[in-house]
Amino acid sequence: IESRLPGVGTTIFTVMSRLAQECGAINLSQGFPDFNAEDVLFERVAHWMRAGHNQYAPMAGCLPLREAIVRKVATLYGTAYEVESEVTVTAGATQALFTAVTACVRPGDEVIVFEPVYDSYVPAIELAGGRAVRMRLAAPDYRPDWDAVAAAVGPRTRMIMINSPHNPTATVWSATDLDRLAAITRGTGIVVVADEVYEHIVFDGAGHASCAAHAELAARSFVVSSFGKTYHITGWKVGYVVAPRELMAEFRKVHQFNVFTANTPVQLALADYMADGSRHLALAAFYQAKRDFFRDALAGSRFELLPSRGTYFQLARYGAISDESDAAFCSRLTRDVGVAAIPVSAFFADGRDERVIRFCFAKNEATLAAACERLVRV
Ligand code: PMP
Ligand code: GLN
Repeated sequence: IESRLPGVGTTIFTVMSRLAQECGAINLSQGFPDFNAEDVLFERVAHWMRAGHNQYAPMAGCLPLREAIVRKVATLYGTAYEVESEVTVTAGATQALFTAVTACVRPGDEVIVFEPVYDSYVPAIELAGGRAVRMRLAAPDYRPDWDAVAAAVGPRTRMIMINSPHNPTATVWSATDLDRLAAITRGTGIVVVADEVYEHIVFDGAGHASCAAHAELAARSFVVSSFGKTYHITGWKVGYVVAPRELMAEFRKVHQFNVFTANTPVQLALADYMADGSRHLALAAFYQAKRDFFRDALAGSRFELLPSRGTYFQLARYGAISDESDAAFCSRLTRDVGVAAIPVSAFFADGRDERVIRFCFAKNEATLAAACERLVRV
């Protein structure tokens, strides 16, 4: 069979987690917590399962969960999305992103992405027959070059995909960035996909600039989030998307045929869990403490730590330790040192290697301490 994705292998997250497991290494590669969610959440899942809510949920998602999402978004970002027509529960953010791209991108369309780019975006674009136009976020501050973005926009530009807080660079865009984006897209038919899965993980008192809070952008945006990140349940694969009615109608045409709906008891449990309305507010301080712990523990190492302003990732340069490629270095670090990380070259289409690696600090302090004990000796 002729491959639809000839340049694509197995994702780096699968590769590194597998290697970590084989080597018995501490896994700071793939992004997921090594601690559990709260018991009350599991109790609610069990409750809804026992109560017989084990069949298909409505295509757009269970009503109480859609109501809870709309309430949260209105409270945080001031935009009142319609429960009926402007919010859809998805099987994780990955599916939301894929479905939004599939619903909007036609063969020959261009989609602007920012590199390093989360690894699922470009394959989704290419499967839809689109072409990814890559804008560089240049180390060490990884800021977008808005003049370059403006110059890259043309008649074929159908979509711009953004991600803040940003994986893997841990940078956070400001309201000014969104203003620039709004100005660039003004008067065009460009759709924005805003990947905001780390919306609640912004550090040092900075706020999250959501496209949902920007009236002009909200009118042309799919805003995507993930319960996996917010409630420490990446394996449950539940997320959501909010968008204006016309965009959501197109999204649902695809959603109903590529997944139909997300799983029912988990949705109902999440609706209960969201009812207290404040759980996500504790997340930033929770992860900031982990970031600080991790950075302090690496202070005596030969890694050069770049800023981490959001997400649960920390980038590090290792030039003082080795001149290996980032992939070779990560492989050796996993095998010989017993700590797995992600080579950032995996987030570049051409494999560009800036000799930077990514650690995930969504771990218990004991895990982070054990990893750092090894890393300071490298
Ligand atoms: N976008 C980004 C930037 C991510 O980091 C992730 C997950 N790590 C996703 C999307 C996918 O989220 P989910 O697991 O809910 O599919
Ligand atoms: N998004 C997670 C990360 O960046 C991984 C998700 C996945 O394995 N697909 O580590």
